[in-house]
Amino acid sequence: MTMMTAGQYEESLRRLNLVVYMFGKRIENVVDDPIIRPSMNAVAKTYELAHHPEHEDIMTATSHITGNTINRFTHIHQSIEDLVKKSKMGRLLGRETGCCFQRCVGMDALNALSIVTFDIDAKHGTEYYTRFVKYLEYVQENDFTVDGAMTDPKGDRSLPPHKQPDPDQFMHVVEEKKDGIVVRGAKAHQTGAVNSHEIIIMPTLSMREEDKDYAISFALPSDAEGITYIMGRQSCDTRKLEGGTMDQGNLLFGGHEALVVFDDVFVPWDRVFMLKEYEFSRQLVEQFAAYHRQSYACKVGVGDVLIGAAQTAAEYNGVEKASHIRDKIVEMNHLNETLYCGCIACASEGHKEPSGTYCVNILLANVHKHNVTRFPYEISRLAQDIAGGLMVTLPSEKDLQSPETAKWLKKYFKAHRDIPTEHRMHILRLIENLTLGTAATSYLTESMHGAGSPQAQRIMISRRINMQEKQRAAKKLCGIDET
Ligand SMILES: Cc1cc2nc3c(=O)[nH]c(=O)nc-3n(C[C@H](O)[C@H](O)[C@H](O)COP(=O)(O)OP(=O)(O)OC[C@H]3O[C@@H](n4cnc5c(N)ncnc54)[C@H](O)[C@@H]3O)c2cc1C
Ligand code: SF4
Repeated sequence: MTMMTAGQYEESLRRLNLVVYMFGKRIENVVDDPIIRPSMNAVAKTYELAHHPEHEDIMTATSHITGNTINRFTHIHQSIEDLVKKSKMGRLLGRETGCCFQRCVGMDALNALSIVTFDIDAKHGTEYYTRFVKYLEYVQENDFTVDGAMTDPKGDRSLPPHKQPDPDQFMHVVEEKKDGIVVRGAKAHQTGAVNSHEIIIMPTLSMREEDKDYAISFALPSDAEGITYIMGRQSCDTRKLEGGTMDQGNLLFGGHEALVVFDDVFVPWDRVFMLKEYEFSRQLVEQFAAYHRQSYACKVGVGDVLIGAAQTAAEYNGVEKASHIRDKIVEMNHLNETLYCGCIACASEGHKEPSGTYCVNILLANVHKHNVTRFPYEISRLAQDIAGGLMVTLPSEKDLQSPETAKWLKKYFKAHRDIPTEHRMHILRLIENLTLGTAATSYLTESMHGAGSPQAQRIMISRRINMQEKQRAAKKLCGIDET
C-alpha cells in the first residue's frame, strides 16, 4: 500500500493500542471519543485530499526512494518546487479545516533528520542515514502519520538538562543494551499525538558535552510499551459533548495536544538516529524549527476562514458597505497575505543540503514565523470588532430550541431581514471558536509558542542576518573608507 484513504486511516488508528488518559480516566476508544474525534477528522483530510484530482498535485509527491506516488506529508523535499508546494498545502488544509491538521510536525522531523543523520555520518562514520532512509521508506509505504516531538517539559528554564533537580525534565538515555537503548522523559504540548502511528523524538535544545545523554533522536510506534498520553484541555472543549450543531463553532474539525510520557521505553537500534552526538543537536533543532516555521502556512488558511467569517458577519449585520468595515477587511487580508508571502519566500529561497534534501531559507522561515506570532492576533482583534458583542453573550443552541425562549432569540437577534437568526448565530460561534474557543489554541497561542516562542526567532534572526554587508553598503554610500 502507498496511499491510504481517509477511511483506511481511521481504521488503522482503531488497530493501535494507545494508553490515553483524559479527565482522569483511561480512554479505550480514542477514535470515537467526541472530544478527540474532530482532531482525527482534521488529519483524515490530509488523506482525503491526496486522492482528490483538484489537489493531488499539491498533496502528493514522488518518493525519491521508491519512485512511488506518496502523500506529501511523508516526502523529503527534492526541489524548490517541493518546498513551495509544501507552503501551498499548508494554506489549503488550513482553509479546509479551520484548525490545526497536525501532520506537519512529523513531515518536518523527517526532513530535518534526512539532513542531520547524513551530516553526523560524514563526521563520525556512523550509519544513521542508512537506518533513517530504511525507516522513511517504511513510513512512506504505509502512509503513516508521524508525531514530531521536540519540546521537553524543561523544568527550571535557567538550568541545562544535567543540572535539573529532576533529571527526567529532558528526554534522556538511561541504559544502552546489545539490541538498543532505554529512554526516559516526556514531551509536552504534542500536536496530534494520539492520531499518529509513529512518534519521532528530537532534542529540544542545543546540548553541550555534559548533556550528551540528552542528545538523542529516535522513532517509536505510537503504541510502544511504556508510552502514556495525557490529553491537554482546550478552551470550550466540553461544548463538543453537548450534541448540538452550533455552539462548538466548527462542527467537523479541531486539533489536540497531549503530554507524552516515556517511562523507560526500549528503542531498537534500527530506530535510533542520534545518540550522544551532542554537537549536532543545535543543527537538528534549527533545521526542524526552520521547516516547522515554514509550516505555519497553515495559519494563512485558517486566516482565510476567519476573514470569510468576518465578512459574512458584517453582511448579516448590514454593515458591510460601511467604509471602516471595508477598510478593516482590507487590513485583515493585507496581514494574511503578508504571512503567505513569508512562507512562499522562505521556500523559494531554499537550498540543497549535502544529503540532497532541500531546506528552506532559515532566516526567512524565522521572519515568517515571527510575523505569525503577531498577525493572527491582529486579524482576530479586527474580526471581533466586526462581529460585535453578541459573539460572547449569545445564549446556547438549546435556548434557540426551547419553546419558551426561541421566539425571543429569533426576534431580538434578527439583524438583516433576509438572513435567518440561526445563520447569524452560527457565524458568530465560528468567530468565537477561532478567536476564543478550541481553535484559538491553534490560531493564537500555538501561533505564539508553537515552533518556538518569539524570542527563539529573534535569536535566529540575529544569528542569520548579514550585518557586515549592510554596514559595508552604508559606509560606501557616505564615503567612509576604512581600508
Ligand atoms: C498548541 C501548541 C502545540 C505545540 N505542538 C508541538 C509539537 O507538536 N511538538 C513539539 O515538539 N512542540 C510543540 N509545541 C511546543 C512549542 O514548541 C513550545 O511551546 C515552545 O517551544 C515554548 O516552550 P514552552 O511552552 O515550554 O514555553 P517556555 O519555555 O516556558 O517559554 C515561556 C517564556 O519564557 C521564555 N523563556 C524560556 N526559556 C528561557 C530562557 N532559558 N531564558 C530566557 N527566557 C526564556 C520564552 O521566550 C517565553 O517568552 C506546541 C506548543 C503549543 C502551544
Ligand atoms: S500548527 Fe500548523 S504547522 Fe503546526 S502541526 Fe498544526 S497545522 Fe501543522
